[in-house]
Amino acid sequence: GKVLVSGANGFLAVWVVRAFLENGYAVRGAVRSADKGVHLSKIFKEYGEKFEVVEVPDITKKGAFDEAVKGVDAIAHTASPYHFKADDPAELLEPAIKGTVGMLESARRCGTAVKRIVVTSSTAAVLHDEPTPQTFTEADWDDQAVETVQRDGRNASNVHKYRASKTLAERAAWDFTKTHGASLTWDLTVLNPPLILGPILHEVPSPSLLNTSALQIFVSGGGGCWVDVRDIALAHVLAVKKEAAGGERIVIGREAFWWQDWLDATPEAAKANLKYQKGKPGSQKDIIPPVSYDASKSVRILGMEYRDMEETARDVVSDYEERGW
Ligand code: NDP
Repeated sequence: GKVLVSGANGFLAVWVVRAFLENGYAVRGAVRSADKGVHLSKIFKEYGEKFEVVEVPDITKKGAFDEAVKGVDAIAHTASPYHFKADDPAELLEPAIKGTVGMLESARRCGTAVKRIVVTSSTAAVLHDEPTPQTFTEADWDDQAVETVQRDGRNASNVHKYRASKTLAERAAWDFTKTHGASLTWDLTVLNPPLILGPILHEVPSPSLLNTSALQIFVSGGGGCWVDVRDIALAHVLAVKKEAAGGERIVIGREAFWWQDWLDATPEAAKANLKYQKGKPGSQKDIIPPVSYDASKSVRILGMEYRDMEETARDVVSDYEERGW
């Protein structure tokens, strides 16, 4: 089979492309401009004609993916802005929503061979702020962030703007399948990962230019939930392969953590040339992190097996060391 991966040059997407290639698929990677495909063509050279790049300059334009979807059996739509720098919420909302709906619309009209579409949503579309520690499931929606952004506009926090973009984009995807229902040749699977961490394959000229999640490792305070980038990449392949994943929203991820846990998991980090913090080893062990997720559905439907923190941390450190960071 052949798979279209949008945003193919991103942190997650390069691993998604690789996971599909390793599993025998041919891949068409969509990027905004030809220069963003050069690094990809280099690292996937060994796959020859099984990997190709297509340019989609503006994902918010009507019919943007019309050509890109032709002849593919499945689609992994990962392209969406993930940063906390937007003043105007539309900077995040427009590409997130229009990019997603546009992809589905192109697939509906031009993707005659498409059988499954996987949209990369996020736990940002799942969690909401609560006063006590919570475990969220696929039944939860972050409508709170949407309301906050609708009310406060530019004055909403940048995190809420991002969370609203993911919630609205995912809701729009499900609405699309409801509206067009039986006329579609494909069904939809949505994956909801938490913070994605791990070694990098995409092009990063310097550590300060890392993508939003990778940038946070070893330097942030507080806590969260996480998944290894290689695990969530494989989840995209499994979401295409498994019949039972059709029509499902699936939380992907490991346990909640405090950043201190990452510092404690990487004694070798001290040797690396990175400015890792040491924090206070073991200091937060007895405090329950505020947010966690029940990812049992991912095990049941996709058969997910997750890497642990020690492995991810070790691989990040050795990756960065090799780069001389
Ligand atoms: P990156 O920033 O590394 O990649 C984002 C990709 O989306 C890039 O290819 C980027 O293209 C593309 N993109 C962003 N904005 C636009 C736009 N306006 N028009 C066209 N393309 C655009 O982020 P990640 O790899 O971390 O994120 C990938 C997906 O995973 C996103 O949907 C994100 O919301 C989701 N996700 C990420 C998590 C994480 O912790 N990393 C957690 C949960 C979900 P370009 O390089 O040209 O800007």
